[in-house]
Amino acid sequence: MRWDNLGRDEAATATTPALFGTDVVTRTFDTPEFRGITFHEVRARSIVNRVPGASQMPFDWTVNPYRGCSHACVYCFARKTHSYLDLDSGLDFDSQIVVKVNAPELLRKELAGPRWQGQHIAMGTNVDCYQRAEGRYRLMPGIIGALRDHANPFSILTKGSLILRDLDLLRQAARVTEVSTAVSVGFLDRDLWRTVEPGTPSPGKRLEVCRTLNENGIRCHVLMAPVLPYLSDSPEQLRATVRAIAEAGGTSVTPLALHLRPGAREWYMAWLSVHHPRLLSRYKSLYAEGSYAPKWYQRRITRQVNEFATEFGIGPTHTGTLRAVPAPAAPVTVEGPTQLSLL
Ligand code: SF4
Repeated sequence: MRWDNLGRDEAATATTPALFGTDVVTRTFDTPEFRGITFHEVRARSIVNRVPGASQMPFDWTVNPYRGCSHACVYCFARKTHSYLDLDSGLDFDSQIVVKVNAPELLRKELAGPRWQGQHIAMGTNVDCYQRAEGRYRLMPGIIGALRDHANPFSILTKGSLILRDLDLLRQAARVTEVSTAVSVGFLDRDLWRTVEPGTPSPGKRLEVCRTLNENGIRCHVLMAPVLPYLSDSPEQLRATVRAIAEAGGTSVTPLALHLRPGAREWYMAWLSVHHPRLLSRYKSLYAEGSYAPKWYQRRITRQVNEFATEFGIGPTHTGTLRAVPAPAAPVTVEGPTQLSLL
C-alpha cells in the first residue's frame, strides 16, 4: 500500500512532503511528548483489513488506525511495512506516524455494511493502537464504541498503558460481545527495556495494566515476547518474568523467541553492535538460516517457560496468540502484508 491509496482529495499543508502528494495533512507538535515525531493525517478509504490468505496469523481481520510506532522497539518486525510507504524502516518508523483520522466513522460504516458478517477483529497486530499518538487523536474510543454497538467480537494486543483510559468502553463491549486483550512483556530487565523498547511503558507498568484489566473482567493474556537470545533468555530471567506475570494475574503466557525479519534485522543488528557488540557473532550464527531462531532454541524457550508457568500456576501455555477465527465469506479489503509485530 502506498500513500496515494490511503487518502482522499484534501488540501495538504505547506509542510507535507512532496512524496505524499495532496492527500495528507502533516503536523508536528512541539510538546515534550511528541517532540521529534511527525504525524501524517490521512483519510483512509477502508479500515477493516483482510489478512492475506497466505498469512500464518491466527486471525483474518484487522483494524489498524496507525502506521509506524513511536514505541520504537528495535526488534519490531512491522518496521518493514514502513518501506511500503516510501519511508525507511529505522528512524522513520519510530517518528513518521500515519494517522487514519477517519478510522472510527469508517469502521462504523463498514460494520453496518451488507457484506460484513461480524467476524472477530484483531487490533494491535501490526503496530500499537495505544502508542503515544492515541493520546492526542483518541481514535480507539470511537473504534471500540463502534464494535460495542455492533456487538462485534474483538481483541487488542498492546504495550500501551493508555488502554486503561478506555476501560469503561471495554467493559461495555464485553457485556455484549467477546473481548480479549493481551500485553507483551518479554523480560523485566529495566536497562534492556530502556534501550531496546525506548518508547514503551516499563514491563512492570504493562503488567499492572494486565492486572487492572483482569480485575475489571477484561481477560488479559501475556505474550512473553520477544525473548531475546543471550540477553533475556537465561533460566533465571525466564523464571522471574513468568513469576511476575503470574503475580500480575496474567491468565496465560505465550513465549515467542525473537524473529529478525528484513527491516527489523538490520535495525536490531545495528543496535546490537552498539550495545552488545560481543554478541554479534553469536546472533549471526543463531540467525544464519533466516529470520527465525532455530527450532531447538524455540523449543528450549517454550519448554522452560511452560515449566515455570506450571510452577506458578498459570499454565498451560500455548504457542499461538490471541485466537484463531474461521475464514469469513465476504472479503472487504486487503491492506498489504499484515504482521504480528511482537507487541
Ligand atoms: S513491537 Fe509493537 S509496540 Fe513495539 S514498535 Fe512494534 S508495534 Fe510498536
